Amino acid sequence: MPQAMKWWGWGLEGIEFTHEDKPQLAGFIRERIGLDITTATAKPARFEDLGVPEPTLPEALGDALRAAVGAEHVSVDPLDRVIHARGKSIRDLIRTRRADLPRVPDAVLRPGTEDEVAAVLAAALEHDAVVIPFGGGSSISGSIEPPAEETRPVLSVDMSRLDRVLAIDPASRLARVQAGVYGPELEQQLGAQGFTMGHFPDSFTHSTLGGWIATRSSGMQSDRYGDVADITKGLRVVTPTGTLVVQPNPTMSTGPSIREMVLGSEGRLGIITEATVQVRRLPAERTILGYLFPTFAAGLAAMEEIAASEYTPSVTRVSDAPETQFSFATRKASTLLDTVQSKALQLFLKKRKGYDLEQMCLSFIGYEGSPEHVKAQRKGVGRIVGRHGGLCIGASPGVLYDQKKFDTPYIRDFLLDRGAAADVSETAMPWSKLQAVHTAVTAAGHGAFAQLGVQGYLMCHLSHSYHAGACLYFTFAFPPSPGGDMLAEYDVVKQAIQQAFVDNGATLSHHHAVGTEHAQWLQEDISAPGVRLLGALFDGTDPGRNLNPGKIV
Ligand code: FAD
Repeated sequence: MPQAMKWWGWGLEGIEFTHEDKPQLAGFIRERIGLDITTATAKPARFEDLGVPEPTLPEALGDALRAAVGAEHVSVDPLDRVIHARGKSIRDLIRTRRADLPRVPDAVLRPGTEDEVAAVLAAALEHDAVVIPFGGGSSISGSIEPPAEETRPVLSVDMSRLDRVLAIDPASRLARVQAGVYGPELEQQLGAQGFTMGHFPDSFTHSTLGGWIATRSSGMQSDRYGDVADITKGLRVVTPTGTLVVQPNPTMSTGPSIREMVLGSEGRLGIITEATVQVRRLPAERTILGYLFPTFAAGLAAMEEIAASEYTPSVTRVSDAPETQFSFATRKASTLLDTVQSKALQLFLKKRKGYDLEQMCLSFIGYEGSPEHVKAQRKGVGRIVGRHGGLCIGASPGVLYDQKKFDTPYIRDFLLDRGAAADVSETAMPWSKLQAVHTAVTAAGHGAFAQLGVQGYLMCHLSHSYHAGACLYFTFAFPPSPGGDMLAEYDVVKQAIQQAFVDNGATLSHHHAVGTEHAQWLQEDISAPGVRLLGALFDGTDPGRNLNPGKIV
């Protein structure tokens, strides 16, 4: 079984983000947000100070659960219960560090088969308990936290024992996979048979297939492999009325899509036990190249032209100027990215290419397939990049990006240790609205910083391109005002950014889900009838509101 994440932060104990191998970072952050990162000034509460409440598990329910999964798989251990109490949003991290606990689940259950999942759900319904499916606990939208006012017993159903690739149909390139498998284990099992699912979210190491499906997750190579919504073909879901089965047929005309109803259901319809997913043969070659563009607008225009073209890169990503400057500031000493700032290149960019270095934007484009395919794609995409004033800077930046992407999530804890908040908000929209959304959100974020009187930093990149549009992913950081409450001030910034999304016709989330964090914008996004439809779906399936109540609607 994979190691659980830290109860107080992201990832594994002993792994931390550090500035010490990044010579420019401390100076950059001091200049941009006035924060000294060379010394930690704050630490999370000690576990002993949390005051974890005793579990409330009626004897008859406890007996039924032990009969369902075996006594060794029913845990009332305080640490286990705290780890399963909430996800890893910045709100979660701030509150946990303050020893501000939510309603902690009364027990953590670890079923090992679909029958055991069904027995757990039956026992929970019989005893009117709340059931919250738990994948890796990496939710960033409040999707696994029990409602504060919940008086019924709360059970967290940890799916991590259901971690096998059960079968691969090579002719159809479909794999039957248990829902509790974590990213690395899944790719290892598929890779052993020459396949990949190609889904690599930044949370890959600490999230599961079931969690990805239940949140409509997206990974960095989605341009080629699709989002989880595209990858998931078949499903088995234990619901209050029996096991729901979606056959893995390529498409079907069977009324509104049941598959789509389960995708993004955040545990409100049942517990996903298995999915049949689309897999592909491992590519012979895989490369990510770095590019520079003179401006973000030029980078966006190039991405749009690539999406409209016959070329199909696996990754398309372009950072705005603030994110580009941050990327350069996080580079380690003597990497090849240094060459980007070398005098010769700077001179070339300024004099020969007419770049304003303050506006310059870094981009990554990935290619996969046979060597011939990769070569042809690189050439064609290179021509498009060139038409927009862009320039290829080789494979080294891509290699570095690939290496550090799973370490980046640790930076939020690092900044919290130094008294600053950092978080992300992401959205999607048609190509025609992209630039306007970027401008509006940037203005909204900086407006919020000004309102609070804080020195904040806001940056963005385009990731995940589609034929009709793309995802914009914003990151913001600020130290709170003197004497200010970090959580209250975070809310001001987060609200401004999210509101700017929906006000400008963009969605409330491209891949982080609704949970409780984004629920207030749902009606503006999907309309009042849309909200009613979702409510009717959940209420009809789960009239007792036993399944992860309070999420989405
Ligand atoms: P959990 O967090 O455990 O649960 C999430 C939701 O799914 C809950 O509602 C839960 O009840 C439900 N659920 C879980 N398993 C099941 C199941 N078997 N059956 C029914 N319901 C279930 N997301 C992305 O898409 N792309 C990213 O690049 C990305 N990067 C992230 C980086 C960081 C630092 C963080 C904190 C989060 C990131 N996320 C990202 C968000 C998060 O990782 C995803 O939402 C992920 O899909 C959650 O998977 P999980 O297994 O951790 O699920």
